[in-house]
Amino acid sequence: MTKNATTLCEPETFEVTTHSVSCDGGAKHAQIQGSANGHPKVFMDMGQMDSVDCKYCGKRFVLKAEF
Ligand SMILES: [Zn+2]
Repeated sequence: MTKNATTLCEPETFEVTTHSVSCDGGAKHAQIQGSANGHPKVFMDMGQMDSVDCKYCGKRFVLKAEF
């Protein structure tokens, strides 16, 4: 039970290497949330931030800081 609660509150996070990312929802997570199966592909730019959330599915893209 406690396991499930943790999973629900945790946003799906993707590590990316560029500030510009694209998201189309993805079937896997959409089923868990019980909302629409994916969404139109959108492109997002983090600008000066190091992370961005997809406004459609809430997926979080985090810039992978590696040198
Ligand atoms: Zn999305």
